[in-house]
Amino acid sequence: MKTAIRTLLVLAVLGTAIAAQSPDGDVLSIYLVDVEGGGATLFVSPTGESMLMDTGNGGANADRDVSRIMAAAEDAGLERIDHLLTTHWHGDHYGGLAELATRIPIGHYIDHGPTIEDNERVQAFIDGPYRELYNAARRTVVTPGDTVPLSGVDVQVMASAGEVVDEPLPGAGEPNPYCADFERYPEDLGDNAQSAGVHLQFGRFRALHLGDLTANKEFELMCPNNPIGSVDLYVVSHHGLNTSNAQVLVHGVAPRVAIMNNGTRKGGTPDTMTILHTAPRLMDLWQLHFSVLSGQEYTVPGVFIANLFDDQPDAMPLAPVPPPRRGSNAAPPPVHSGPANWIKVEARRDGTFTVTNSRNGFSKSYAASE
Ligand SMILES: [Zn+2]
Repeated sequence: MKTAIRTLLVLAVLGTAIAAQSPDGDVLSIYLVDVEGGGATLFVSPTGESMLMDTGNGGANADRDVSRIMAAAEDAGLERIDHLLTTHWHGDHYGGLAELATRIPIGHYIDHGPTIEDNERVQAFIDGPYRELYNAARRTVVTPGDTVPLSGVDVQVMASAGEVVDEPLPGAGEPNPYCADFERYPEDLGDNAQSAGVHLQFGRFRALHLGDLTANKEFELMCPNNPIGSVDLYVVSHHGLNTSNAQVLVHGVAPRVAIMNNGTRKGGTPDTMTILHTAPRLMDLWQLHFSVLSGQEYTVPGVFIANLFDDQPDAMPLAPVPPPRRGSNAAPPPVHSGPANWIKVEARRDGTFTVTNSRNGFSKSYAASE
Protein backbone atom coordinates (compact mmCIF):
# COMPACT_ATOMS: atom_id res chain seq x y z
CA MET A 1 0.00 0.00 0.00
CA LYS A 2 2.79 2.40 1.01
CA THR A 3 4.57 1.63 -2.23
CA ALA A 4 1.43 2.37 -4.21
CA ILE A 5 1.03 5.77 -2.52
CA ARG A 6 4.69 6.57 -3.10
CA THR A 7 4.34 5.61 -6.76
CA LEU A 8 1.31 7.90 -7.10
CA LEU A 9 3.23 10.75 -5.46
CA VAL A 10 6.17 10.23 -7.80
CA LEU A 11 3.79 10.22 -10.77
CA ALA A 12 2.11 13.41 -9.54
CA VAL A 13 5.46 15.17 -9.17
CA LEU A 14 6.57 13.93 -12.60
CA GLY A 15 3.30 15.18 -14.07
CA THR A 16 3.96 18.66 -12.73
CA ALA A 17 7.49 18.62 -14.08
CA ILE A 18 6.29 17.55 -17.52
CA ALA A 19 3.61 20.28 -17.56
CA ALA A 20 6.18 22.92 -16.62
CA GLN A 21 8.43 21.85 -19.49
CA SER A 22 5.61 21.68 -22.00
CA PRO A 23 6.42 24.12 -24.80
CA ASP A 24 2.79 25.10 -25.31
CA GLY A 25 1.33 24.64 -21.86
CA ASP A 26 1.84 28.05 -20.31
CA VAL A 27 2.24 30.49 -23.14
CA LEU A 28 0.75 33.85 -24.02
CA SER A 29 0.35 33.81 -27.81
CA ILE A 30 0.16 37.03 -29.80
CA TYR A 31 -0.75 37.13 -33.49
CA LEU A 32 -0.08 40.30 -35.45
CA VAL A 33 -2.43 39.79 -38.36
CA ASP A 34 -1.73 41.41 -41.72
CA VAL A 35 -4.65 43.69 -42.53
CA GLU A 36 -2.74 45.81 -45.07
CA GLY A 37 -1.77 48.71 -42.89
CA GLY A 38 -4.71 48.46 -40.48
CA GLY A 39 -4.78 47.04 -36.98
CA ALA A 40 -5.61 43.49 -35.78
CA THR A 41 -3.67 41.94 -32.91
CA LEU A 42 -4.90 38.79 -31.20
CA PHE A 43 -3.79 37.83 -27.68
CA VAL A 44 -4.51 34.31 -26.41
CA SER A 45 -3.89 33.46 -22.77
CA PRO A 46 -2.65 30.03 -21.60
CA THR A 47 -6.23 29.08 -20.68
CA GLY A 48 -7.47 29.92 -24.18
CA GLU A 49 -9.10 33.21 -23.25
CA SER A 50 -8.68 35.85 -25.93
CA MET A 51 -8.44 39.59 -26.48
CA LEU A 52 -8.50 41.01 -29.99
CA MET A 53 -7.32 44.57 -30.52
CA ASP A 54 -9.00 45.97 -33.64
CA THR A 55 -10.63 44.29 -36.62
CA GLY A 56 -8.85 45.63 -39.71
CA ASN A 57 -10.45 47.43 -42.64
CA GLY A 58 -14.11 47.54 -43.60
CA GLY A 59 -16.14 48.01 -46.75
CA ALA A 60 -14.86 46.00 -49.70
CA ASN A 61 -11.90 44.82 -47.58
CA ALA A 62 -13.89 43.53 -44.60
CA ASP A 63 -14.15 39.98 -45.92
CA ARG A 64 -10.41 39.87 -46.71
CA ASP A 65 -9.29 41.23 -43.33
CA VAL A 66 -11.80 39.30 -41.23
CA SER A 67 -10.86 36.06 -43.00
CA ARG A 68 -7.25 36.72 -42.01
CA ILE A 69 -8.26 37.38 -38.39
CA MET A 70 -10.33 34.19 -38.39
CA ALA A 71 -7.35 32.21 -39.70
CA ALA A 72 -5.39 33.33 -36.65
CA ALA A 73 -8.32 32.58 -34.33
CA GLU A 74 -8.59 29.09 -35.83
CA ASP A 75 -4.86 28.53 -35.49
CA ALA A 76 -5.24 29.38 -31.80
CA GLY A 77 -8.22 27.01 -31.49
CA LEU A 78 -10.61 29.79 -30.46
CA GLU A 79 -14.35 29.40 -30.57
CA ARG A 80 -15.04 32.91 -29.36
CA ILE A 81 -13.40 36.28 -28.84
CA ASP A 82 -13.72 37.05 -25.14
CA HIS A 83 -12.71 40.71 -25.30
CA LEU A 84 -12.70 42.92 -28.39
CA LEU A 85 -10.85 46.17 -27.76
CA THR A 86 -11.41 48.75 -30.49
CA THR A 87 -8.59 51.23 -29.99
CA HIS A 88 -10.33 54.09 -31.84
CA TRP A 89 -12.93 54.90 -34.44
CA HIS A 90 -10.97 54.82 -37.68
CA GLY A 91 -11.92 52.51 -40.52
CA ASP A 92 -8.63 50.58 -40.46
CA HIS A 93 -9.34 49.62 -36.81
CA TYR A 94 -13.09 49.04 -36.48
CA GLY A 95 -13.83 48.35 -40.17
CA GLY A 96 -14.18 44.56 -39.90
CA LEU A 97 -16.04 44.57 -36.58
CA ALA A 98 -19.59 43.90 -37.83
CA GLU A 99 -18.35 41.22 -40.25
CA LEU A 100 -16.29 39.52 -37.54
CA ALA A 101 -19.35 39.36 -35.26
CA THR A 102 -21.10 37.26 -37.92
CA ARG A 103 -18.24 34.73 -37.90
CA ILE A 104 -17.43 34.22 -34.22
CA PRO A 105 -19.18 35.08 -30.92
CA ILE A 106 -17.77 38.16 -29.18
CA GLY A 107 -18.28 38.33 -25.42
CA HIS A 108 -17.17 41.83 -24.44
CA TYR A 109 -16.76 45.06 -26.37
CA ILE A 110 -14.24 47.62 -25.12
CA ASP A 111 -13.65 51.12 -26.51
CA HIS A 112 -12.66 54.66 -25.51
CA GLY A 113 -16.19 56.08 -25.79
CA PRO A 114 -17.68 58.36 -28.44
CA THR A 115 -15.73 59.50 -31.49
CA ILE A 116 -14.64 63.11 -31.32
CA GLU A 117 -14.77 63.44 -35.09
CA ASP A 118 -17.73 64.82 -36.95
CA ASN A 119 -18.13 61.77 -39.15
CA GLU A 120 -21.64 60.60 -39.97
CA ARG A 121 -20.61 57.14 -41.12
CA VAL A 122 -18.72 56.41 -37.89
CA GLN A 123 -21.52 57.85 -35.75
CA ALA A 124 -24.09 55.72 -37.58
CA PHE A 125 -21.99 52.62 -36.94
CA ILE A 126 -21.61 53.36 -33.22
CA ASP A 127 -25.30 54.18 -32.76
CA GLY A 128 -26.50 51.32 -34.97
CA PRO A 129 -24.75 47.97 -35.49
CA TYR A 130 -22.21 48.48 -32.69
CA ARG A 131 -24.88 49.30 -30.09
CA GLU A 132 -26.92 46.30 -31.19
CA LEU A 133 -23.91 44.03 -30.77
CA TYR A 134 -22.84 45.24 -27.34
CA ASN A 135 -26.41 45.34 -26.05
CA ALA A 136 -26.54 41.60 -26.72
CA ALA A 137 -23.18 41.11 -24.95
CA ARG A 138 -21.28 43.56 -22.72
CA ARG A 139 -19.57 46.89 -23.27
CA THR A 140 -16.95 48.72 -21.24
CA VAL A 141 -15.80 52.27 -21.95
CA VAL A 142 -12.32 52.31 -20.46
CA THR A 143 -10.35 55.04 -18.77
CA PRO A 144 -6.61 54.95 -18.02
CA GLY A 145 -5.81 52.68 -15.07
CA ASP A 146 -8.65 50.26 -15.87
CA THR A 147 -7.81 46.62 -16.34
CA VAL A 148 -9.07 44.16 -18.95
CA PRO A 149 -9.93 40.80 -17.35
CA LEU A 150 -7.90 38.53 -19.64
CA SER A 151 -7.25 35.50 -17.45
CA GLY A 152 -3.64 35.00 -16.41
CA VAL A 153 -2.45 38.25 -18.01
CA ASP A 154 -2.36 41.69 -16.36
CA VAL A 155 -3.76 44.06 -18.97
CA GLN A 156 -3.85 47.69 -17.94
CA VAL A 157 -5.20 50.60 -19.96
CA MET A 158 -2.49 53.28 -20.25
CA ALA A 159 -4.33 55.81 -22.43
CA SER A 160 -7.92 56.33 -23.52
CA ALA A 161 -10.08 59.19 -24.83
CA GLY A 162 -7.16 61.61 -24.77
CA GLU A 163 -6.28 60.89 -21.12
CA VAL A 164 -3.22 59.02 -19.84
CA VAL A 165 -2.48 57.13 -16.61
CA ASP A 166 -1.41 59.17 -13.62
CA GLU A 167 -0.09 56.26 -11.54
CA PRO A 168 3.01 54.38 -12.72
CA LEU A 169 3.04 50.60 -13.05
CA PRO A 170 4.64 48.80 -10.07
CA GLY A 171 8.38 49.41 -10.08
CA ALA A 172 8.19 52.17 -12.71
CA GLY A 173 7.96 55.97 -12.40
CA GLU A 174 11.57 57.07 -12.81
CA PRO A 175 12.27 60.40 -14.58
CA ASN A 176 12.36 59.93 -18.37
CA PRO A 177 15.64 61.38 -19.74
CA TYR A 178 14.15 61.84 -23.23
CA CYS A 179 11.56 64.41 -22.11
CA ALA A 180 13.95 67.36 -22.26
CA ASP A 181 14.45 67.06 -26.03
CA PHE A 182 10.80 66.66 -26.94
CA GLU A 183 9.31 69.27 -29.24
CA ARG A 184 5.56 69.22 -29.64
CA TYR A 185 4.23 67.85 -32.92
CA PRO A 186 1.39 69.54 -34.84
CA GLU A 187 -1.75 68.82 -32.83
CA ASP A 188 -3.82 65.82 -34.02
CA LEU A 189 -7.45 66.70 -33.36
CA GLY A 190 -8.84 63.41 -34.70
CA ASP A 191 -9.54 60.06 -33.13
CA ASN A 192 -5.95 58.73 -33.26
CA ALA A 193 -5.10 60.78 -30.16
CA GLN A 194 -8.11 59.19 -28.43
CA SER A 195 -6.72 55.64 -28.86
CA ALA A 196 -7.19 53.20 -26.03
CA GLY A 197 -3.82 51.55 -25.48
CA VAL A 198 -2.66 48.84 -23.09
CA HIS A 199 0.32 47.43 -21.25
CA LEU A 200 0.34 43.65 -20.82
CA GLN A 201 2.28 41.69 -18.27
CA PHE A 202 2.53 37.90 -18.31
CA GLY A 203 4.91 36.81 -15.54
CA ARG A 204 8.12 38.62 -16.41
CA PHE A 205 7.13 39.29 -20.03
CA ARG A 206 5.88 42.80 -20.78
CA ALA A 207 4.35 44.26 -23.92
CA LEU A 208 2.96 47.64 -24.98
CA HIS A 209 0.28 48.30 -27.63
CA LEU A 210 -1.01 51.87 -27.81
CA GLY A 211 -3.04 51.71 -31.04
CA ASP A 212 -2.56 54.89 -33.08
CA LEU A 213 -1.78 57.15 -30.12
CA THR A 214 -0.08 60.29 -31.39
CA ALA A 215 3.23 61.90 -30.41
CA ASN A 216 1.91 64.67 -28.15
CA LYS A 217 -0.06 62.07 -26.16
CA GLU A 218 3.07 59.93 -25.97
CA PHE A 219 4.77 62.91 -24.38
CA GLU A 220 1.91 63.38 -21.88
CA LEU A 221 2.07 59.67 -21.05
CA MET A 222 5.86 59.46 -20.72
CA CYS A 223 6.79 62.79 -19.06
CA PRO A 224 8.19 63.90 -16.79
CA ASN A 225 8.27 60.40 -15.29
CA ASN A 226 8.13 57.13 -17.24
CA PRO A 227 5.09 55.23 -15.86
CA ILE A 228 5.87 52.06 -17.85
CA GLY A 229 9.56 51.33 -17.40
CA SER A 230 10.98 49.12 -20.14
CA VAL A 231 9.14 46.49 -22.15
CA ASP A 232 10.10 43.35 -24.02
CA LEU A 233 7.74 43.88 -26.95
CA TYR A 234 6.56 47.15 -28.47
CA VAL A 235 3.82 46.94 -31.06
CA VAL A 236 4.90 49.96 -33.07
CA SER A 237 2.20 52.62 -32.79
CA HIS A 238 0.14 53.86 -35.70
CA HIS A 239 1.56 51.43 -38.31
CA GLY A 240 4.97 53.08 -37.99
CA LEU A 241 3.77 56.56 -39.01
CA ASN A 242 5.96 59.48 -38.00
CA THR A 243 3.08 61.35 -36.34
CA SER A 244 3.49 58.79 -33.54
CA ASN A 245 6.58 56.92 -32.27
CA ALA A 246 8.36 59.92 -30.79
CA GLN A 247 11.74 59.19 -29.24
CA VAL A 248 10.31 60.08 -25.82
CA LEU A 249 8.16 56.93 -26.02
CA VAL A 250 10.19 54.51 -28.13
CA HIS A 251 13.52 55.12 -26.39
CA GLY A 252 11.78 55.62 -23.05
CA VAL A 253 10.22 52.13 -23.00
CA ALA A 254 13.35 50.68 -24.64
CA PRO A 255 11.78 47.58 -26.20
CA ARG A 256 13.94 44.58 -27.03
CA VAL A 257 11.70 43.62 -29.92
CA ALA A 258 9.40 45.86 -31.95
CA ILE A 259 6.80 44.70 -34.45
CA MET A 260 5.39 47.20 -36.93
CA ASN A 261 1.93 46.69 -38.44
CA ASN A 262 2.73 48.81 -41.48
CA GLY A 263 1.40 48.67 -45.04
CA THR A 264 3.25 48.60 -48.35
CA ARG A 265 3.24 52.40 -48.33
CA LYS A 266 2.03 53.24 -44.85
CA GLY A 267 4.58 53.73 -42.11
CA GLY A 268 8.27 52.98 -42.02
CA THR A 269 9.57 56.35 -43.24
CA PRO A 270 13.27 57.06 -42.56
CA ASP A 271 12.56 59.25 -39.51
CA THR A 272 10.50 56.56 -37.74
CA MET A 273 12.92 53.84 -38.79
CA THR A 274 15.83 55.84 -37.38
CA ILE A 275 14.11 56.22 -34.01
CA LEU A 276 13.38 52.49 -33.94
CA HIS A 277 16.85 51.41 -35.09
CA THR A 278 18.48 53.60 -32.42
CA ALA A 279 16.25 52.51 -29.52
CA PRO A 280 18.73 51.67 -26.75
CA ARG A 281 17.96 47.97 -26.19
CA LEU A 282 16.36 47.03 -29.50
CA MET A 283 17.51 43.67 -30.81
CA ASP A 284 15.14 43.25 -33.74
CA LEU A 285 12.43 45.08 -35.60
CA TRP A 286 9.88 42.87 -37.36
CA GLN A 287 7.49 44.18 -40.00
CA LEU A 288 4.14 42.97 -41.29
CA HIS A 289 5.05 44.39 -44.69
CA PHE A 290 7.91 45.55 -46.78
CA SER A 291 7.43 49.32 -46.98
CA VAL A 292 8.68 51.15 -50.05
CA LEU A 293 8.94 54.20 -47.81
CA SER A 294 11.96 52.58 -46.12
CA GLY A 295 13.84 51.53 -49.23
CA GLN A 296 16.68 49.09 -48.63
CA GLU A 297 18.50 51.87 -46.82
CA TYR A 298 16.23 51.76 -43.77
CA THR A 299 14.38 48.46 -43.94
CA VAL A 300 15.18 45.32 -42.00
CA PRO A 301 16.46 42.03 -43.47
CA GLY A 302 13.74 40.21 -45.39
CA VAL A 303 13.54 37.32 -42.93
CA PHE A 304 11.93 39.72 -40.44
CA ILE A 305 9.24 40.85 -42.92
CA ALA A 306 6.01 38.83 -43.09
CA ASN A 307 4.54 40.12 -46.35
CA LEU A 308 5.95 41.50 -49.58
CA PHE A 309 3.88 42.73 -52.50
CA ASP A 310 2.59 41.25 -55.71
CA ASP A 311 4.67 42.94 -58.41
CA GLN A 312 8.21 42.86 -57.17
CA PRO A 313 10.65 44.99 -59.09
CA ASP A 314 13.85 43.18 -60.11
CA ALA A 315 15.80 45.26 -57.64
CA MET A 316 14.35 46.98 -54.61
CA PRO A 317 15.18 50.68 -54.54
CA LEU A 318 18.02 51.50 -52.22
CA ALA A 319 16.67 54.96 -51.41
CA PRO A 320 13.33 55.23 -49.63
CA VAL A 321 10.41 56.26 -51.82
CA PRO A 322 9.06 59.60 -50.59
CA PRO A 323 5.49 59.35 -49.31
CA PRO A 324 2.96 60.89 -51.68
CA ARG A 325 1.50 64.20 -50.65
CA ARG A 326 -1.97 63.99 -49.15
CA GLY A 327 -4.73 64.42 -51.66
CA SER A 328 -2.33 64.19 -54.60
CA ASN A 329 -2.99 61.99 -57.61
CA ALA A 330 0.00 59.85 -56.77
CA ALA A 331 0.15 56.27 -57.97
CA PRO A 332 -1.60 53.79 -55.66
CA PRO A 333 0.57 51.86 -53.20
CA PRO A 334 1.94 48.47 -54.23
CA VAL A 335 -0.78 45.84 -53.92
CA HIS A 336 -0.61 42.76 -51.73
CA SER A 337 -3.61 40.59 -52.48
CA GLY A 338 -2.15 37.10 -52.19
CA PRO A 339 -2.01 34.97 -49.06
CA ALA A 340 -1.36 36.92 -45.89
CA ASN A 341 1.14 35.97 -43.24
CA TRP A 342 1.19 36.83 -39.58
CA ILE A 343 3.93 37.39 -37.07
CA LYS A 344 3.39 35.28 -33.97
CA VAL A 345 4.88 35.86 -30.54
CA GLU A 346 4.92 33.09 -27.94
CA ALA A 347 5.78 34.50 -24.53
CA ARG A 348 6.50 32.52 -21.38
CA ARG A 349 6.12 33.59 -17.75
CA ASP A 350 9.88 33.45 -17.19
CA GLY A 351 10.25 36.35 -19.64
CA THR A 352 11.59 34.33 -22.57
CA PHE A 353 9.76 34.64 -25.86
CA THR A 354 9.89 33.47 -29.46
CA VAL A 355 8.86 35.39 -32.56
CA THR A 356 7.96 33.57 -35.78
CA ASN A 357 7.36 34.84 -39.32
CA SER A 358 4.68 32.62 -40.88
CA ARG A 359 5.81 33.47 -44.43
CA ASN A 360 9.18 31.77 -44.21
CA GLY A 361 9.08 29.95 -40.88
CA PHE A 362 11.94 32.11 -39.62
CA SER A 363 11.87 32.07 -35.86
CA LYS A 364 14.01 33.66 -33.18
CA SER A 365 13.99 33.18 -29.41
CA TYR A 366 14.87 35.91 -26.94
CA ALA A 367 16.23 35.41 -23.44
CA ALA A 368 14.47 36.99 -20.47
CA SER A 369 15.23 40.62 -19.78
CA GLU A 370 17.82 41.24 -17.04
ZN1 LIG B 1 -4.62 53.18 -38.03
